[in-house]
Amino acid sequence: MSRESSPAKRRLVLVVDDDPTMRLLVREALEPHGLDVEEAADGSSALALFRTRDPDLVLLDVQMPGIDGFAVCEEIRRMPGALHTPVVMITGLDDVESVRRAYEAGATDFIAKPISWLILSHRVRYLLRAAETVRELRRSQERLANAQRLARMGSWQMELGSGEIHTSEGFLTIYGFPRGEAVLRLKTLMERIHPDDRPALLAAAETCLREGRSAQIDHRVVLPDGSERVVHSQVTLGLGENGRPQRLEGTVQDVTERKQAEEQIRYLAYHDSLTGLGNRLLFKERLGVALAQARRNDGVLGVLFLDLDHFKRINDTLGHSVGDRLLQGVADRLVATVRASDVIARSGRMDADHAVSRLGGDEFTILLTDLREVQDLAKVARRILDALSVPFALEGHEVVISGSIGITARPLDGDDVETLLRNADAAMYHAKDRGRNNYQFYTESMNAVALERLILESKLRRGLEHGEFELHYQPKVALPEGRLTGFEALLRWRDPEEGLVLPGVFIPLCEETGLIRPLGDWVLLEACRQLARWRDAGRAPLPVSVNLSVHQFRGGGLVESVRRALAETRVDARWLELEITESALLQDEAAVVGALEALRRLGIRIAIDDFGTGYSSFSYLRRLPVDVLKIDRSFVQHIETSADEAALLGAIVSMGRALRLRVIAEGVETMGQRELLAGWGCDEMQGFLISPAVPAEAAVAFAPVAAVKRT
Ligand code: C2E
Ligand code: MG
Ligand code: MG
Repeated sequence: MSRESSPAKRRLVLVVDDDPTMRLLVREALEPHGLDVEEAADGSSALALFRTRDPDLVLLDVQMPGIDGFAVCEEIRRMPGALHTPVVMITGLDDVESVRRAYEAGATDFIAKPISWLILSHRVRYLLRAAETVRELRRSQERLANAQRLARMGSWQMELGSGEIHTSEGFLTIYGFPRGEAVLRLKTLMERIHPDDRPALLAAAETCLREGRSAQIDHRVVLPDGSERVVHSQVTLGLGENGRPQRLEGTVQDVTERKQAEEQIRYLAYHDSLTGLGNRLLFKERLGVALAQARRNDGVLGVLFLDLDHFKRINDTLGHSVGDRLLQGVADRLVATVRASDVIARSGRMDADHAVSRLGGDEFTILLTDLREVQDLAKVARRILDALSVPFALEGHEVVISGSIGITARPLDGDDVETLLRNADAAMYHAKDRGRNNYQFYTESMNAVALERLILESKLRRGLEHGEFELHYQPKVALPEGRLTGFEALLRWRDPEEGLVLPGVFIPLCEETGLIRPLGDWVLLEACRQLARWRDAGRAPLPVSVNLSVHQFRGGGLVESVRRALAETRVDARWLELEITESALLQDEAAVVGALEALRRLGIRIAIDDFGTGYSSFSYLRRLPVDVLKIDRSFVQHIETSADEAALLGAIVSMGRALRLRVIAEGVETMGQRELLAGWGCDEMQGFLISPAVPAEAAVAFAPVAAVKRT
């Protein structure tokens, strides 16, 4: 019913009774109290009047000829909008059966005859007031539900005792539950929450319970059809009358559209529409975040500032459409290059799309974090210049472009967004001055280092082509007697300008640039060739050990290289020994162990080099396919002066022997060291005491005995 309540409005009571005296008495009892009265003498006229006059209350006699009171009441209840109109039935005194049937028929209340006329008006007015209150409540519930529907809101309460959750209609709609399921269990509800958001939501509820504070959170709801909505939830603690927590209650609001709009706005504000990369604003924000992080863990971070060379010319000659395509092509190559670089792979945190931004025009930046050293930036810059040097095919044109890159790094060149950006920009201009298509560090000394490395790298490449590498051989002897047992092949580079260079200087750079693979293959082949030369000269065969870098194990192919070197020289595998450092083994165990097993199946012995520097344990060693343990020089160095060091080395030797490994001590320089080692049962030694590594011609001088033995 949609009648508004106002004090001025008079209430209408419909009296239904076949007895005219009764009707008259009711009228006289009610009218003086401001109530209007309408009369009906039987059931059918009562129903007709009800429809036309829409009374506020019905007084209904049970017993009437024709349709009785019960039937009339039932009929009224069936009428639209009449469900809540008070219907009071008039029954005989003590007629319990009638009272029961009256309620069954939907009556609101009953009055027993004889009627107390004085009280009747009070009773009627009370019932009218109660009905009005109920109507008012219902109306406000409807208004609330409407408002919630409009605001896409809903509400819920969870009783802490029972765990039951009572929900509003709006809530059910948002969570995609059917309207009827107003009472839910927590488990059912949680199933609708996105799995990633459940912990945060539960944490919010827990905070609310523990601290009594209300909490709010945005989370995703997954509907039965799989679609997702974003919901803003608020939770508060409801206290019982005793002041103790009794229930959690809260509201939910579907904010999906708002979130999407916000995302869209944010995306537009932070991205370049041409390339989809982040723009200047986003770059600055990311740099700020990365700087804060780097300051916390004392990390190295750098920015490359790329400006294309003569981009304007392309726009002017080929048109803006080609210019735009070119910028997109450059963006793609930058992202691909950065993604492929191990600098990014190592950092793990920032992905390539986030590293590259377009500041505007033909300017791009690349933000690199978690760097091991500043020179990593030069590596990426070089790769970028290489990537750009491949011509672009655009709308039927072959477009050639290059770029100039400025490099700046924290903490070297600054520690805030503006300074780093300004310095990168300045360094980029420096690169332009230097003839474009190159990179420059902001700090001059960095350029010198980068240049030095670049020169060294090209010299090493050339050295490999021109046969500037050679192997020297350091003899190994058995303890205690000193019989020659073999040689370790050690790599040397004869730099035409500097003379002999030791591997510590060039191996790391070879590993970084990938040069280690061809160089390593050369070492293997050369060691086998030397074995073949000695064999062909009629000398007794002695094993030669060759050092391997962990980089040679990556990507496969090592076992094949070894097999090929042996086959080409027709050298038996048992004369070749391979050494891998303990730390390399630990670095990439998966790649290394499988290959070692395959090599061992060929009949090659495997040695763990520099043992003791890599923190592996003996129990770990036992599981590895290893035959020889080479104890690092640092353990041998002080055994004569330090009892602790001596005890340690003695223990290492005996444990190695217990594992049935051949134990070799490296870097033995004195007779005292040799005697101690012999006393502990160390199998072999190598060191300056016997000889440093020497060229092959000199090495044979150590093996006269063997030469004699053969004949
Ligand atoms: P390493 O395999 O542990 O080789 C032993 C190093 O100790 C050699 O240095 C050797 O000259 C030096 N040494 C030997 N006896 C003594 C001594 O009594 N006192 C002192 N102070 N030093 C001694 P080198 O030749 O400079 O080689 C250094 C490292 O470079 C080698 O350590 C090895 O890890 C690596 N290396 C050498 N050749 C190759 C190679 O062909 N390929 C690879 N991947 N690495 C190599
Ligand atoms: Mg070695
Ligand atoms: Mg060693």
